[in-house]
Amino acid sequence: MIQDIFPRVYHNEYHDIQPEPDDCILIFHRNTALVRFEGGRLRFPVLGELKSFRASEAGPSFYYLFSIDARRYFLAFPAALPSSPRTEDALTGENMPAALPGYAWEDVRIFRTAMSRHTAFAGITAHHLFGWYQTNRFCGRCGHPMEADHRERMLFCPRCRNMVYPRISPAVIVGILNGDKILMSRYAGRPCANYALIAGFVEIGENVEDTVRREVMEEVGLRVRNLRYYRSQPWAFSGSLLMGFFCDLDGCDRITLDTGELAEAGWFSRDEITLEDDHVSLTREMILRFKRGEV
Ligand SMILES: [Zn+2]
Repeated sequence: MIQDIFPRVYHNEYHDIQPEPDDCILIFHRNTALVRFEGGRLRFPVLGELKSFRASEAGPSFYYLFSIDARRYFLAFPAALPSSPRTEDALTGENMPAALPGYAWEDVRIFRTAMSRHTAFAGITAHHLFGWYQTNRFCGRCGHPMEADHRERMLFCPRCRNMVYPRISPAVIVGILNGDKILMSRYAGRPCANYALIAGFVEIGENVEDTVRREVMEEVGLRVRNLRYYRSQPWAFSGSLLMGFFCDLDGCDRITLDTGELAEAGWFSRDEITLEDDHVSLTREMILRFKRGEV
């Protein structure tokens, strides 16, 4: 899966540090990242390459994100977060490439498949954090500019003492088994035509097992039992932590489709599954484990 970068190791302990010339600098503009490809491999700028950018932008600020092995990754903004109203506007697809020859803005969706895998994982994980920093520039309670804490990854409001931590949305993925078949579905209104499993976000006041039962009932009108936790996956594309469960159908197998959410759903035997492993998503891994008779 996308987070499986062994033998490399992801270190997300917080450090209050500033970058050195060889450290990677992640720069995003909405859903694009400043990258280049070297021999087909994804590369991010390092601080040493950003000298002209720093001079022209009067001192961008850097936020340490994480390390993979000894490689350190920082997030750059064109001006001190969060008080500058220029933050959103200063970086555009037009002015950055000029400051950094050879780099281009690419949609973050390329991180699903770009090589090398640990660099792509760094990119999408950084984009999750970028979204959090960018949407919390001002206090949601009193409107005052937020400040970054120096001891942990937290933004706080010096006026009303509001504290904001990185937002992760827990969600479930459910493989419903019915004898030698599994339920697969397709989303309505999505370009991706691939079959997937039932999925949905955990609601406030709900435990994860209840989320599984509720989502299955809402989306396909079925009851399930015997829930088995499988694995989890950080899925930065939706700011989520996905938790995968297998479970058994309980009672009638007639599907009542929520057509607002799903275009199609049905029971599939192992032989009918034609999906290949993409080594990216938990959903795909769960489907293929079923196909191989491992669940
Ligand atoms: Zn406040």
